Amino acid sequence: MGIKTYNDIYLDLRRALKAGGIEDFNLEARLILGTAAGKRREELIRDMNLYALDDVEERVKAMTARRVDGEPIAYVLGEWEFMGLPFTVDRQVLIPRSDTELLAELAIERARRFDAGCRVLDLCCGTGCIGISIARTVPSCRVVLVDNSMAALRLSHRNIMRNGVARNTVCMEADAKKAPPALLGKYDLIVCNPPYVPRGEIGGLDRGVRDFEPRAALDGGEDGLDFYRAIIPAWKGILKEGGAFMFECGEDQAPAIMDMLTAAGFARTGAVRDHGGVERVVVAAL
Ligand code: GLN
Repeated sequence: MGIKTYNDIYLDLRRALKAGGIEDFNLEARLILGTAAGKRREELIRDMNLYALDDVEERVKAMTARRVDGEPIAYVLGEWEFMGLPFTVDRQVLIPRSDTELLAELAIERARRFDAGCRVLDLCCGTGCIGISIARTVPSCRVVLVDNSMAALRLSHRNIMRNGVARNTVCMEADAKKAPPALLGKYDLIVCNPPYVPRGEIGGLDRGVRDFEPRAALDGGEDGLDFYRAIIPAWKGILKEGGAFMFECGEDQAPAIMDMLTAAGFARTGAVRDHGGVERVVVAAL
């Protein structure tokens, strides 16, 4: 391969990403080189004119090939940021979306109102990004992360350690579509970003999502609403008096979910729009 500086590798990498049709090739080249070299942004800038070990270039080439093949950049890097915090990701879990930051922000706002600490459950937690950002931002609260996938739980546990929230956050295996395990206790807030893509629309998603993200984390059944239909009656029993559900949902799904919540006895329900004007989060309090 010959001796190359980080800058030489960077220029080759940038060119390869551009030729491979990657729109954000400048940013992604920096991210890939930083990860391959194990350097943070400022370290990389400082070291740009140094010669790099051969294995850095090998790692860059392997990562570039995956990216150009259509794999999402977050999986290629093995981590992604959510609410300003780093999360380890792999192909067993959905990549944290910036869309979901709205749900995390609303949950944080609510959790802050509890002087004695809010008990929060993150149902279908995946990477754990929602629950962990609440635990991190509101240290007085106690958070339980729940998923039916052991791979997701292992990853969310790593993310608990990585973000230093082991003091107030634990993980537990449970199936969102079934009754909650008796030992879970009661909650002030259940946050949930379930799979909600209507089955027939999965084929039309972006290739990166469709071919690389776990189907089980996307597929919400025929109309996308299967999880809400199962979760609302099964899990409302573990909400405390005055407790609330907060759900993320897809475009045009909020009215149907609010109807389910009203039918289940929730007196106050509402939807909150995201920056794109989509009703993205449904909130319901008992
Ligand atoms: N927002 C995701 C997407 O459009 C779907 C996430 C989910 O089903 N919870 O790819």
